[in-house]
Amino acid sequence: MPDILWGVSSDDFREPWFRLQPEQALTFEREAEKEIAPGHVLHGIALSATAKCEGCDDVVFRASDGTFAIIHLTWTLKPERPPWPQTTRRGSFIAVETAMDQHAH
Ligand SMILES: [Zn+2]
Repeated sequence: MPDILWGVSSDDFREPWFRLQPEQALTFEREAEKEIAPGHVLHGIALSATAKCEGCDDVVFRASDGTFAIIHLTWTLKPERPPWPQTTRRGSFIAVETAMDQHAH
């Protein structure tokens, strides 16, 4: 997935999604790493936090296998029991963008 699709501006995601700055992204990447236990679909896959919903704990990650995932972090600060944390996987940027557009509370 070329980085150019993700742009560089801060307003390229539609509300309620906002782009995470690198230091914010690190916080979510670390928490995801803690919560994702062996047996989870994303276990062992490196994740880059990209966007966060301002209305809930959903975070969009880009996975090292080229796919995308929206993960509802639980903030338990420890491994969850798979399939938690709740994860929506999408195979492309377009697909995850559609899922983000359909996101509702
Ligand atoms: Zn939300």
